[in-house]
Amino acid sequence: MHEKKNPNKPLIVYYIIALVVVMLLNALLFPQIERYSVKQVEYSEFLTMLDEGQIKAVQIEDTQIAFTPVEQIKDGKATYYTTNRVTADDKIVERLLDAGVQFGQVVPEEMSPIIEFLLTWVLPLVIFYALGSFMFRKMSQRVGGNSMSFGKSNAKVYVEAQTGKTFDDVAGEDEAKDALKEIVDFLHDPQKYRDIGARLPKGALLVGPPGTGKTLLAKAVAGEAKVPFFSISGSEFVEMFVGMGAARVRDLFKQAGEKAPCIVFIDEIDAIGKRRDNGGMGGNDEREQTLNQLLTEMDGFDAGKGVVILAATNRPEILDKALLRPGRFDRRIPVELPDLAGREAILRVHSREVKTEENIDYKQIARATSGCSGAELANIINEAAIAAVKDNRKAVTQRDLEEAIETVIAGYQRKNAVVSPRDKLTVSYHEIGHALVAAKLKNAAPVQKITIIPRTSGALGYTMQVDEEERLLMTREQILDKITTFCGGRAAEALIFGRITSGASNDIEQATKLARAMITRLGMSDTFGMMALETQSGQYLSGDANLVCSDQTAARIDVEVKQIIAECYDRAAQILADNKEKLHELAKVLLEKETITGIEFMAILAPNQLPSSTEESAEMSNTEKPADDHGVPAVQ
Ligand code: ADP
Ligand code: MG
Ligand code: ZN
Repeated sequence: MHEKKNPNKPLIVYYIIALVVVMLLNALLFPQIERYSVKQVEYSEFLTMLDEGQIKAVQIEDTQIAFTPVEQIKDGKATYYTTNRVTADDKIVERLLDAGVQFGQVVPEEMSPIIEFLLTWVLPLVIFYALGSFMFRKMSQRVGGNSMSFGKSNAKVYVEAQTGKTFDDVAGEDEAKDALKEIVDFLHDPQKYRDIGARLPKGALLVGPPGTGKTLLAKAVAGEAKVPFFSISGSEFVEMFVGMGAARVRDLFKQAGEKAPCIVFIDEIDAIGKRRDNGGMGGNDEREQTLNQLLTEMDGFDAGKGVVILAATNRPEILDKALLRPGRFDRRIPVELPDLAGREAILRVHSREVKTEENIDYKQIARATSGCSGAELANIINEAAIAAVKDNRKAVTQRDLEEAIETVIAGYQRKNAVVSPRDKLTVSYHEIGHALVAAKLKNAAPVQKITIIPRTSGALGYTMQVDEEERLLMTREQILDKITTFCGGRAAEALIFGRITSGASNDIEQATKLARAMITRLGMSDTFGMMALETQSGQYLSGDANLVCSDQTAARIDVEVKQIIAECYDRAAQILADNKEKLHELAKVLLEKETITGIEFMAILAPNQLPSSTEESAEMSNTEKPADDHGVPAVQ
């Protein structure tokens, strides 16, 4: 289907061009023939010219005298004369001296023909070659190749020592690790599997949201399996030249076949594995060819040989179906966002690399980071370490970590941001509005922290709620309470100031999203019941949804969404109106302190229930209010 292009062809063309250029240069710059002219004259004429003072320099040799005239250049050529030396005339030297003629080199020195050849032909060629191969290297570096193997893939070979990662570096993700361990084991001892007649899958696809450790897992496999590991990113197949991608795939598999048993890892496979669509014209031919080649190669080799193909993607839904059918990537390994225990383990793995104080409560940090990916957790540890250095401390403290969570989730503090007193007051009431509503609702997560210090993310303040335990399911009541909490900010502004501000935009967006999801995806509306009205695309990325219903239904959905939010808003407004005194009191404290913890908040809100120690307080609020759950700590 695809003819193999001769990779040397461009080079030959290049050499021919270089040769022509050299010839032209030689002809133009160094006209070889007659760079000077020689005239043989009689001795008498020489003497006459001497008398007339026409001689500039002489070179006396045994049998002849060479001389240059005063007018040396004639017709653009240097001219010199020779004459036979008349030995009888022994006065000639004196006469020449008297006439003031110079003695010296007159005859242009003949270059040795070899040197001349080298200089005019070989040297330029060498220069061209050096220049050319330099340029080729530069060019192919840009497209990730290698000049002499143009069109050859240069999949990097990883061996254990190079990735330096093992399964110990990957925390949590036990199911994924188990599945991969099987593959590693197979590669160590294929015979064991062959004896019993088991056939391992040819390929495994790691799917999951960004930052959950897919690439890390593949590197760990490389570290564990003591076999060659070819790693290439999907985008590296997408080449400048049509047909190169396919050539790379072919070459990659050829190399892998020679090195079997081995592992081939294709990261971000969606770059080439995107579904082929036959609609429209043209499309991306290059990508399609590459994909076809990949499919062909995957069919072509024999799994018994011990080549295992791993691939990773966070957009499994756009992959071509042909890639996923049995015999290709028939095994899917989900790499999901870590749960509570997973987050704690990831934090511990990464804190091995930094100096921390001894009594760090990782569980607490893990609780506050629900919804964070492994990459974000690694980032939190790093931000905490940076904060410790900024503070001239030798070890990371619990506070550093807590502060780092907010940095990663909400951006850095903008301590110098100028916020007018009037805005600060509004934000105080807004945030206390959220917190107060959350505290009074049965199904909302406890408040952990309230702050009105602006963040680089643009938030002027936020209320952080943290669940005591992780819940994978949310009840209808919990969702409604969450929406109500979102409404609390705006409701407080309206209640106290009788005017509303733009500060609630993010709350509104989130509340609307939740309400919509209740109706279109979660089957929680009475009108529609269990009817899917939306399909989600890109489950691991943005979570965009497409409506799949008639226009009339879409209009009715809008009405329902409005209704849900309006009801929640009224509830929030009612709670705040009932607790107006507390709202004033708490807002005043927040305005003064800028940041208050959940415990301080509860102490003001319900002073009678003040617990004796802080630990207990956390537990208490847990038993009091079954935690809401879900998702990222609510930053509102
Ligand atoms: P992906 O390829 O899934 O987008 P990566 O493998 O590139 O994510 O992960 C990015 C970084 O996040 C890793 O280098 C590692 O530091 C950290 N990380 C992610 N998941 C884990 C995990 N389960 N255990 C330890 N570190 C992790
Ligand atoms: Mg990756
Ligand atoms: Zn808000």
